[in-house]
Amino acid sequence: TISMAVIDKMGHVAVGTSTNGATFKIPGRVGDGPIAGSSAYADDEVGACGTTGDGDIMMRFLPCYQVVESMRQGMEPKHAAKDAISRIARRFPDFVGAVVAVNKNGVHAGACHGWTFQYS
Ligand code: ASP
Repeated sequence: TISMAVIDKMGHVAVGTSTNGATFKIPGRVGDGPIAGSSAYADDEVGACGTTGDGDIMMRFLPCYQVVESMRQGMEPKHAAKDAISRIARRFPDFVGAVVAVNKNGVHAGACHGWTFQYS
């Protein structure tokens, strides 16, 4: 999965996700990519979030919506990302996934569980 968040010079925030889906997926599987709040979410007033990983689990938690709402409440991106991953990992310890969060000021952070995650 590739998620991308952008902030334009007017301060508008946007995010998008592209994925080839899960390995050995069932034909017709939709996955988390097109589910707003699961693999991507953005709000001009707050910032944006993207994810990668086990979409069948992540879609149950809407982690990107969670991250953006946590930042809206004042959490730094680092803590918002870690909190969203922790909420999933508590229920699914074998979960593999990651989130990247950026606030409207461009402060960004990532958090992951079950693998090593890098973003740029
Ligand atoms: N989240 C994607 C999916 O479950 C997979 C991925 O991130 O690579 O469809």
